[in-house]
Amino acid sequence: MAENNTIPESGFAKPIVRFAPSPNGLLHVGHARSAILNRRFAKTRGGTFMLRIEDIDLTRARPEFEVAIKEDLAWLGIDWPEPVRRQSEHFCEYQSALDELRRLGLLYPAFLSRAEIATIVSEFEGRGRVWPRDPDGAPHYPGNDRALSMSERDHRIAAGKPHAWRLDMQAALDGLGEKLSWRESGAGPKGETGQVGADPGAWGDIILARRDVPASYHLSVTVDDAVQSITDVIRGEDLFASTSVHRLLQHLLGLPVPAYHHHGLVRDPDGRKLSKSDGATSIAALRQQGASPADIIALAGLADAR
Ligand code: GLU
Repeated sequence: MAENNTIPESGFAKPIVRFAPSPNGLLHVGHARSAILNRRFAKTRGGTFMLRIEDIDLTRARPEFEVAIKEDLAWLGIDWPEPVRRQSEHFCEYQSALDELRRLGLLYPAFLSRAEIATIVSEFEGRGRVWPRDPDGAPHYPGNDRALSMSERDHRIAAGKPHAWRLDMQAALDGLGEKLSWRESGAGPKGETGQVGADPGAWGDIILARRDVPASYHLSVTVDDAVQSITDVIRGEDLFASTSVHRLLQHLLGLPVPAYHHHGLVRDPDGRKLSKSDGATSIAALRQQGASPADIIALAGLADAR
C-alpha cells in the first residue's frame, strides 16, 4: 500500500476516535486496517478509542456478529471502554434531530417506493436523457413530493401510505450562506486533501429516515459523532463523499465538526474492495487457518507503521 500510514496530528489534545462497524457480517482485513489505524492514533496521543455498533438496520443486524466483532478486535489486541454505543438503543435521539430539521422546514415525506423510483428513472433514461445520480450511483429522487401541501402530506400519512423522510437539499443549500468544508489529512479518490470543500448537492434529497427504520446511516453517524465527542473520524476512502452530507447535517443541527482522515482500502488481487459477503478474507477465517494478529496487521498493510 503506497499510502503513508502515519496519520498526522489534528490539533485535538486528547483525541477521541471510533471504529463503527455494522453487525451484519464478519469483519475482514479492511475493517482490521481501519480499527488498527484508529487504535494507534488514539494510543500514541493518550486519547480514547471507542467501539460503536451501527445496527439501525434491524433486519440485517445480528447479535452473533456483534459478538464476533468484539472477539476479533480483542484478539487483535484492541480494547475499548464500555458501555459500547449501540445505535438501535438511540432512535429517540435521531428522532430529535429529525424534528429539528422538520422545524427548519427541510424535511418532507417521500412516498415513492424503490421500484417506482427505478421505473421513473429508467423510463427517463430510456429516452436517452441523463438522470442525476449520487456519488454511490443511486438516482436522485424523481418525485415532487416536496411540493405537496401540508394537508395532503398529513392525509397520506394518516391513510398509512409508506414513506421515507428526505432532506429538501435545495432548500438546505439555499439557506446556507457559507461554503462548507472539512479538514482532511488523508485523501479522497481524486487526491483531495487539506481543507476540502463539501458538495452535499451531489447527493440530492438524501433519505434521513427510511421507510422501515426511523433513521438512516447519514443521520445516525452524524448525531453519534457529536454525542460521543469524536474529534477525529478515521475511516475508509469509500466514505469520503459521504462526508459532504455529514458536514451539511452538522451545520444544520449546530453540531461540532471533527477532523477527518480517509484512508486507502485493502483490495483483493483484482483491485476490488473487500466485502463482508466474501467470507474468505474474514479475520475469523484467517485466524482459523492459523494466522496471527501480526499476519493480519501485515495483510492490512500496517506492518511498517506505529
Ligand atoms: N458503519 C459503517 C460501515 O460499517 C462505518 C461508518 C463510518 O465509519 O462512518 O461501513
